[in-house]
Amino acid sequence: MTEDNKNSQLDEVQRQLLDRLAKNDSSGFKQLLGQLKGGVNFVDDSGMSCLAHASFKGNREAVQLLLELGADINLNQHGADYTPLHFAALSGNTHVCRLLLDAGIKPGAINSVQRTAAQMAAFVGNHACVETINNYVTRSSLEYYTQVHGQQKEPQIPPTLLKNFHSFVTEINLHPVRIALNVQSLGLLRILSSLRKTLALMCEKEMQKSHDLNELLAFKFHYQGWILAELIRCEEQFKAQHKDKPAGEETGGEANKNEFIEVFVKRVLKENKLGQLDYVEYTIRECAREFPVRECTIFRQIATQLSASAGPPALTVLRNAINGMRGFVDESSYCSTCGAEKPDKKCSKCRAVQYCDRECQRLHWFMHKKNCARLLAQSQNQSQSQPQSKGNIDTAELREELSKLTA
Ligand SMILES: [Zn+2]
Ligand SMILES: [Zn+2]
Repeated sequence: MTEDNKNSQLDEVQRQLLDRLAKNDSSGFKQLLGQLKGGVNFVDDSGMSCLAHASFKGNREAVQLLLELGADINLNQHGADYTPLHFAALSGNTHVCRLLLDAGIKPGAINSVQRTAAQMAAFVGNHACVETINNYVTRSSLEYYTQVHGQQKEPQIPPTLLKNFHSFVTEINLHPVRIALNVQSLGLLRILSSLRKTLALMCEKEMQKSHDLNELLAFKFHYQGWILAELIRCEEQFKAQHKDKPAGEETGGEANKNEFIEVFVKRVLKENKLGQLDYVEYTIRECAREFPVRECTIFRQIATQLSASAGPPALTVLRNAINGMRGFVDESSYCSTCGAEKPDKKCSKCRAVQYCDRECQRLHWFMHKKNCARLLAQSQNQSQSQPQSKGNIDTAELREELSKLTA
């Protein structure tokens, strides 16, 4: 045994386990877990639990494993009252925040300096964590809508869709395209109409609360429901336009469902000559006007900002009102199609716009094809004037991508 371990309460396995976490050695951590004698609920000499350490490192895999092994989310003896969620918020890892919230951690718990986890995240600029925590509702609070009440013959949301309904409600990205794509990928298209009604009801219920009322969530539910109503309208228009089209009942129906989503996405992404999204501007204003409660801060804030001349885009107003101001935001770090943050892919030609994946790129191409060449010329001019600049285009890669596109 080495010098510094003499006074430690930790046994050798516990000490090594924390050491692996500190070094982000997930596989080593995993191997050692099996050798623990007294289980995962132990604290280090400062009173910090193993789960708190894993959360602080933003180690998703370790947090998941610890929770599966029965880690106690309330275990802490360090006196500063930081919950694992406070530590996760500081780490900046939204997945870890989400795991802890799903495990039932209380988002409103305050530490010894009276700060919630979301406030700590905001303090260090981890805005995605702020949004993940502030947008969270428990899955059990949604169970009500999967049950039969009063005169109902069936629940508004089939119980089998509870998990997906929960994912839909807790999404932090408010872009109408993301909402439409989520409805599709989460298998909620077939309950579009009852999903819309449920969200309206959730908004109403939130605003009627006598305590813990969350205006932001109420407005968000109202907005999500509003976009669903727009989707439904789009579907009806699409059906009316294509009713003469011969199609097999089953397969034709499915194909049409996907087609109207594309029509909707294009409607949303269609820019005017100034590059503004007319439909989004109009729809968000209409949505705000129809918010059922006028006497509340969020309504006044949104209404004032939307009526300001030369204000920010409506989607930015909405995002800031619901998720909080972000300070400096680099708009180019969002997916050009669905508004997701830090997307992985770039347009291989101009490298000036970013996308989550090929699907997002495909959906935006009808708009982007008009600008791609101009953006490429722009970035070439820039790289000529700054020959040393990083991120120069790999011409071999570009040629390969171009040949793929023209093939
Ligand atoms: Zn995207
Ligand atoms: Zn491009």
